[in-house]
Amino acid sequence: MPFEPGAASPRSEGLEIDLRALFDNYHLLQKLVGPAQVAGVVKADAYGLGAQAVSRTLIRAGCRHLFVAHLGEALALSPALSAGVSLYVLNGLRPGTEAQAAEAGLVPVLNTLGQVAAWRDLAVSRGRPLAAVLNLDSGMTRLGLSAADLETVKRDAQIFQDLDVRYYMTHLARADVPEATSNADQVARFRRQAASLPSRPLSISNSAAALSRLAGADDLVRAGLALYGGAPVMGGRTPMRSVIRLTARVLQVRDVPAQVGVGYGLTHVTAGPTRIATIESGYADGWPRALGNRGDIFWRGRRLPIIGQISMDSMTVDATALQPDALREGDVVELIGPHQSLEAVAQAADTISYEILTRLGHRYRRTYTDRAAALTGSST
Ligand SMILES: *Cc1c(COP(=O)(O)O)cnc(C)c1O
Repeated sequence: MPFEPGAASPRSEGLEIDLRALFDNYHLLQKLVGPAQVAGVVKADAYGLGAQAVSRTLIRAGCRHLFVAHLGEALALSPALSAGVSLYVLNGLRPGTEAQAAEAGLVPVLNTLGQVAAWRDLAVSRGRPLAAVLNLDSGMTRLGLSAADLETVKRDAQIFQDLDVRYYMTHLARADVPEATSNADQVARFRRQAASLPSRPLSISNSAAALSRLAGADDLVRAGLALYGGAPVMGGRTPMRSVIRLTARVLQVRDVPAQVGVGYGLTHVTAGPTRIATIESGYADGWPRALGNRGDIFWRGRRLPIIGQISMDSMTVDATALQPDALREGDVVELIGPHQSLEAVAQAADTISYEILTRLGHRYRRTYTDRAAALTGSST
């Protein structure tokens, strides 16, 4: 039986992260994209799920490559990693931090000629090649070496002696829309760029590109959202298991007559007698303010519409449809779970699941479960 928020349960509310589902998702994605390797993207504290616990689980599942965005994220994570796991820094290094990164054995993604030069200077001064990834901008115009930068690199082949370039990398601007022609254009341009340089393995796909096979042959898939159970292709489904469940506590339940204003701005006025439940979840928790008078939550599978604005620490929902006394102070309701997907919340809030995920998980109590083990009583 799946766990029902609101049912008698020893679990408390907050963000529950199913590490078994994460483990299974890694295996499934690895099976789908092999022989490419799947790297785990654990930037932004693993999208709010906790970089340490997520990284440990991915490594247990066989993952040998992890990506973060910042040096600080990498330094916090690197002591926990096993030998043989590479930790990459997507945004590269700020000038002056190269020695610190080298000390920690990190692999920077080099995005600019300045980053290439600084990392190379350090390698030369230490008399050994330092590992790096070269990011080539194939058309997204965000980060990476431009066509002109690439010409500079090509004129200076010694770079490939001074640096141990592990991969050429690029990133697709529209991987979430698989049919967009820019995807094939970017892949073709990237392959031409890579072919003009000494041969190295390639890293092209994020979750969406990997699931839609946009890249053709790819050596290292950089996956975040798919591993965390999100559906990275717009409007699409995902073969992955859901990893998170978000629940919150009922703070107060009250019955009010018609014509009563609710919440900041009194933006909702009751049309008839209404039972209002106040839920301990607000925009400071990462629950989107855009869901005011728009979104829903669930209790034992019953939909409860959000009425009024979302406050900083709470929100109000319409519980009139429930039996009197059904919902009580202290009960636990579902915000994301079996009845409401992450994508449904993102869509109602007019944003993407990435933004919802990365904003959760800091104020909510995070608990880690291994649901398969908990349900079967084993730890397979
Ligand atoms: C964040 C990021 C990824 C991971 O993207 P998902 O869609 O979560 O798989 C991959 N590559 C780069 C360059 C990124 O910035």
